[in-house]
Amino acid sequence: MAACRICNNHYQEFISFGQMPIANGFLLPENFEQEYYFEMKVGFCTHCSMVQLLEQPDRELMFHEDYAFFSSLSQGQTIHFEKLANRLIKDYLCETDPFAVEIGSNDGIMLQNLAAAGIRHLGVEPSENVAEIARGKGINTICSFFDEELATRIIEQHGHADTISSANVICHIPYIHSVLAGVKKLLKQEGVFIFEDPYLGDIVEKVSYDQIYDEHVFYFSATSVKNMIAQHDLELFDVEHLDVHGGSMRYFIARRGSHQVTEKVRTLLANEKALGLELHETYQQLRRNIEHSRDQLVEILEKVKLEQGSPVVAYGATSKSTTVLNYCGIGPELIDFISDTTPIKQNKFSPGMHIPVKSPEDLEKKQPDYILLFAWNHMQEIMNKEAQYNARNGKWIVYVPEVKVI
Ligand SMILES: [Zn+2]
Repeated sequence: MAACRICNNHYQEFISFGQMPIANGFLLPENFEQEYYFEMKVGFCTHCSMVQLLEQPDRELMFHEDYAFFSSLSQGQTIHFEKLANRLIKDYLCETDPFAVEIGSNDGIMLQNLAAAGIRHLGVEPSENVAEIARGKGINTICSFFDEELATRIIEQHGHADTISSANVICHIPYIHSVLAGVKKLLKQEGVFIFEDPYLGDIVEKVSYDQIYDEHVFYFSATSVKNMIAQHDLELFDVEHLDVHGGSMRYFIARRGSHQVTEKVRTLLANEKALGLELHETYQQLRRNIEHSRDQLVEILEKVKLEQGSPVVAYGATSKSTTVLNYCGIGPELIDFISDTTPIKQNKFSPGMHIPVKSPEDLEKKQPDYILLFAWNHMQEIMNKEAQYNARNGKWIVYVPEVKVI
């Protein structure tokens, strides 16, 4: 039993993934012995419908100086955020001298578009090395975590905000009530708070359990978001489903009564009810589906690697892959190495299972028979890039939405 971070009622886990290392903690052999582990358990609160991690490692362990995620490395992401920026400009930043804030602004991938349009903006980014890159691009960035206290400081220095946006960040923050209190304080009367995160409905439907890892403390649905923000007298007035990150939802939030609630919100809430996102049994079924997915994936890998002796390389040293590898117990005996384009990860080893991470050139040299696709959310982009591999009949092992070889 634990206390729900949203409503403080008791709730219980529905699955334990066992001992997990830091998802993005790619490491060198000299650090294997000191590697940190925690038991990754996920629970569902029947009172407010929030799905959440029971415990989370300290944020300093997860978001440190070497934090290796730079948004702008992905071209798909660059286009995604340019579109979002254009929408903000068109719909919400059209008054005189508007002001936009972004929580977790990364290397400025979204704000660079607002900066180019001459809009007053402020990025809040906790990783100093990432914030420095944004500043180098001329984007106003402060290195900090966002909370109620920081919101007060921002108001003193810049005034209230027309928009506060955030992408793939809010689900990371356990002290979310302080963030929401800060958001409410910082927003103008008609201001909007727009955030997007991986969507629980997609996780349940696709059994994409690899979305679950230490950084993601919350797995949001419209139902749980609506319940959560009601405590701050905020209202969900629009939603938009996104294909990024294997299925995300963008939530549009404002002070209660300040914006008209769209039909899309009502439809989504009804869909979630039909999917059973408010029911305990749904998560018991999800656990069984996850166990089944694990057993099938291990079976395929054992067959091709141990029985057939075929080389298998994994594609994408993602944070998501850490959950799959450690939960399924897949190590170097089943995967030769993981190929990744990020230089900071290359020549290191995967968290927990210690599979070597190598460069795409090594993948090219290896010419494996099978590639296990961890970056399945970028499948189309990857298929186009790896046309040569496909042309020589290389096989892909995928596990979302079902385990199969293609
Ligand atoms: Zn709750």
